[in-house]
Amino acid sequence: MKSRPKLLLHICCAPDATAVFERLAPDFEVRGFFHNPNIYPEAEFKRRYSEAERVAIQMKFPLEEASYRPESWFRLIQGMEHEPEGGGRCAECFLYNLRATAAKAREMEMPFFTTTLTISPHKVSAKVLAAGKAAAREFGVEFIDMDFKKQDGFKRSLELSKKMRLYRQKYCGCKFSIRLKPEQSQGPN
Ligand code: SF4
Repeated sequence: MKSRPKLLLHICCAPDATAVFERLAPDFEVRGFFHNPNIYPEAEFKRRYSEAERVAIQMKFPLEEASYRPESWFRLIQGMEHEPEGGGRCAECFLYNLRATAAKAREMEMPFFTTTLTISPHKVSAKVLAAGKAAAREFGVEFIDMDFKKQDGFKRSLELSKKMRLYRQKYCGCKFSIRLKPEQSQGPN
């Protein structure tokens, strides 16, 4: 196989990682990064991480786990607890995780990073991509601004996660997304 540039992939959950990894693997040497202190409670974080680990093992890529430190995430979104999904709290949440990913990519001397977040039909890709570009500027690494929901990306993630029998969470991730009824929620993170 041709030599490929290294890319750090922010993974928000196992189902989303499947089709995104499949899309990136021909062009990049991908390493996953599970950085999601927004996920609540910790048992749910652990469950989603262990599912991401299963995907990494089955699809054969290394995965870095960031330790669960939700305190600074809660500080960041203070005052935005009651914002609707898709609003200011979510924009800060995207930026928080993508800044951490860009910083990690720089620390690991990986020239590229991106995120699985755009594959979800419940998330506005433009907001995720704007956060990625801002993080890239701040940390001096290149953000691959692909919208993974294009070309039936979400459909493919459903196929692969069904095949791998992955856990599909019922809410986006944070404490404030649990209280919403499913039809009001952005859905899985
Ligand atoms: S709803 Fe999802 S994207 Fe928005 S703040 Fe909560 S975890 Fe983050």
